[in-house]
Amino acid sequence: MLITANDRLFVLTGAGISAESGLATFRGSGGLWNGYRVEEVATPEAWQHDPLLVWRFYSMRRRDALAAQPNAAHLALASYEQQLGDRFYLCTQNVDDLHERAGSVRVHHMHGTLFQSRCTRCDRVFPDQSFYESAAALPACSSCGAPVRPHIVWFGEIPLDMDAIDRQLNRATVLLVVGTSGSVYPAAGFVHIARQRGACTIYIGPEEPLNNGAFDQILLGAATEALPALLLHA
Ligand code: NAD
Ligand code: ZN
Repeated sequence: MLITANDRLFVLTGAGISAESGLATFRGSGGLWNGYRVEEVATPEAWQHDPLLVWRFYSMRRRDALAAQPNAAHLALASYEQQLGDRFYLCTQNVDDLHERAGSVRVHHMHGTLFQSRCTRCDRVFPDQSFYESAAALPACSSCGAPVRPHIVWFGEIPLDMDAIDRQLNRATVLLVVGTSGSVYPAAGFVHIARQRGACTIYIGPEEPLNNGAFDQILLGAATEALPALLLHA
């Protein structure tokens, strides 16, 4: 039995868990994310240089995510949360909302979410499903009038609520990592922290991640197959 009802499970998911829902990963396509270099669309410099291009990119990501459906891997995690309750914590690098739509509740989006936007001056965060695709349509804050940006943690920015993540990593007995290449830090370092603190570390995905040496077990396979199979043994 890999995971028991007494374990505290910390799950880290990456773009790979949403791949079978039709959302592109970016390592899988020659380092491009939906045809763009990440430096062009997902950095503070990209925003300074061309906010319209950044908003066009994230408007497309909103369209893609709205059209996608959660898959069997998202559903398996939601049912596992139902069994483990507060002993379950899901930290995702994904900005889509497929975990929530599968029924997960204890979800932390460390890299932000597609369906929120944020004022660049007063930091007000608000729900937002709009598409901004022309210079005339670029959004401004309703409180202070400053430009509004996607509520996304770009490369070079600090992930959201690292304190909560650290507290959860401290108490976890099992770290389960699904569908992430192990190349984006600090998320790629969670496995080292969990291992130091005595947790069992498991990776699920079709290929070995870059940080493969830190996992006790690597289950090679698609998330929709390996994840429900793993959880059935619990
Ligand atoms: P990545 O693109 O670097 O790596 C994707 C990983 O998924 C690879 O290791 C690949 O082997 C694995 N994978 C592919 N198909 C899979 C499947 N069917 N089942 C399980 N695993 C599969 O992604 P990353 O490591 O998450 O880093 C990407 C960064 O870009 C993150 O910071 C994230 O915020 C962002 N991003 C988000 C989304 C999304 O929200 N859906 C999509 C692309 C990128
Ligand atoms: Zn404002």
